[in-house]
Amino acid sequence: MKQSRRTFMIRAVAGVAAATVLPQVAHATTEKLSESDPYAKSMGFKLNHEEVDPAKYKRWTAEQQCNKCQLWGGKAGDEYGECSFFERYTPSGGWCKNFKAVKKA
Ligand code: SF4
Repeated sequence: MKQSRRTFMIRAVAGVAAATVLPQVAHATTEKLSESDPYAKSMGFKLNHEEVDPAKYKRWTAEQQCNKCQLWGGKAGDEYGECSFFERYTPSGGWCKNFKAVKKA
C-alpha cells in the first residue's frame, strides 16, 4: 500500500511529539530528589532523616522518615520509593517537613 504524503507528515509529527514528550514523563517519575533542589531545600528535605536539625524543625521526631510517610510509594525493604509530593524518588530514610505519618490500622 502506498503511503500518501499527508499520512507520512502526520506520522512524522506524531513521532517527533512522542520522542519529545515521553522521555520527560519518564524522567519526572524516576529521578532521585537532591538536597540541593531549591524546592527540596525550602522543605527541609534530607536524604538521611538523622541529619534533620531538630531545633529548626520542631515537629520532627526520630521515627519520621519517608518509608513511614503516606506520600511515599516504596514497599518495605525498598531503598528508594517515589514521593508523590515531589514526584521524585526519595530514600526510605529521607525526610521533609511535609511528612505525613502513615495511619495505623
Ligand atoms: S513528603 Fe514524605 S515521602 Fe516525600 S520527602 Fe517528605 S517525608 Fe519523604
